[in-house]
Amino acid sequence: MSRPEEPGHVVVIGAGQAGHQTTASLRESGYQGRITLIGDEGVLPYERPPLSKAYLKGDVDETQLWLRPETFYERQSVERVTGTVVAVDRAARTVRLGDGAVHAYDHLVLATGARPRVLPVPGSDLRGVRTLRTLADADTLRKDLAGAADVVVVGAGFIGLEFAAAARELGHRVTVVEALGRPLARVASAPAAAHFTRLHEEAGNRLLVGQGVLAFHDNGDGRVGAVELTDGRRLPADLVLVGAGVTPCTELAEAAGLRVAAGIVTDSRLLTSDPHISAIGDCAVFPHPRSATDLRIESVQNAVDHARLVADRLTGAERSYDDLPWFWSTQFSTTLQIAGLGHQHDTELVLATGPGAFSVLLFREDELVAVESVNRPADHMAARRLLTAGIPLSRWEASTEGFTLRGHLKARSGGPVPVAA
Ligand SMILES: Cc1cc2nc3c(=O)[nH]c(=O)nc-3n(C[C@H](O)[C@H](O)[C@H](O)COP(=O)(O)OP(=O)(O)OC[C@H]3O[C@@H](n4cnc5c(N)ncnc54)[C@H](O)[C@@H]3O)c2cc1C
Repeated sequence: MSRPEEPGHVVVIGAGQAGHQTTASLRESGYQGRITLIGDEGVLPYERPPLSKAYLKGDVDETQLWLRPETFYERQSVERVTGTVVAVDRAARTVRLGDGAVHAYDHLVLATGARPRVLPVPGSDLRGVRTLRTLADADTLRKDLAGAADVVVVGAGFIGLEFAAAARELGHRVTVVEALGRPLARVASAPAAAHFTRLHEEAGNRLLVGQGVLAFHDNGDGRVGAVELTDGRRLPADLVLVGAGVTPCTELAEAAGLRVAAGIVTDSRLLTSDPHISAIGDCAVFPHPRSATDLRIESVQNAVDHARLVADRLTGAERSYDDLPWFWSTQFSTTLQIAGLGHQHDTELVLATGPGAFSVLLFREDELVAVESVNRPADHMAARRLLTAGIPLSRWEASTEGFTLRGHLKARSGGPVPVAA
């Protein structure tokens, strides 16, 4: 039985990172009502980051990706339903699945995530032209890789570069094609991107920037054989991974008449335009005190913290979302960790601490807005503490001899400082 102020039945659509976390956090917050978690993948909720890293290389198996074992959902009385929700009836407060089953809700959480963009060029539907989002995608790619010599990656964002690193480590010839002027152009600073570019080149990967894809060509057998670039070059390819970003899954929300822009629009409490429906994780667009414009963030941290906030709200502890965004990417044996939002920075300062280990401090109008740490977990943890606490740091202070983020945190906070992530 739920408490009188709580919704009696919470239905969550999407059994990914955010959907799973909603169920776990609801129970942690003492929610006693009914929880139904509906997902269309037919597997236990799992973490996606290893799909482009350890899982792709065969270093971990499927069970190691599970966020929790099956017994967790049984013990927590979370009803797991496999199926695709095809409609939300806001007036009746029900959702309908593809097989016709109907579930009534008191509160609905949309955690539908995002799907990879497909390039609108000829040959995108050829066998061997792949994207990577799900466990099933990763399994297909693992099989494809087994028979491939030449691999082309389209898009030098995080997923493209992580896949390129793993494919190289598995012994493939890899070419990465990027339409913009440099890798990681939308997501990391120039110094961090230059470092990862060097790592790929030193490992033997070829990076072609400023190159679009005109078409994928058939090898005569319905399978991709070559990638045609905008400069007319044709790259041989037995396998293509398209890492050209994602589109949030908003169609259910749109059809239900909810506000949708670059995602499902929410307020600072992650409520949609219907007070009985929340939207969280990759599918949600939300205001954040660190950004002048609404954000849509694709990260584990964002999915987890969104879910926690909704669970708190549904159990009576309402607050606005202001958690510090953070993210990581691992390529070869190098890890980049990002704290804060650097997309609108105007100045960079590199704190070099050793070979292959450094942090880039990103400032906007002399205010620290983000820190990118390469193989510097202690810097990352200190940066998260500094940014969360709003401890000021000017470029001038950061440029002084012997400056460290940990030292600055210690001097300004007076509290104990963590050693590493
Ligand atoms: C290969 C890869 C590597 C990544 N690496 C990192 C990393 O290193 N660090 C990091 O922070 N983040 C990483 N991410 C991003 C991170 O995994 C996502 O931000 C996170 O999974 C978002 O969680 P979510 O619950 O919002 O969406 P998802 O995890 O995508 O879950 C959404 C779920 O909803 C289901 N669904 C959608 N519509 C319906 C429907 N109508 N009915 C039923 N079910 C539905 C989907 O099938 C899916 O299972 C990575 C992502 C990928 C794909």
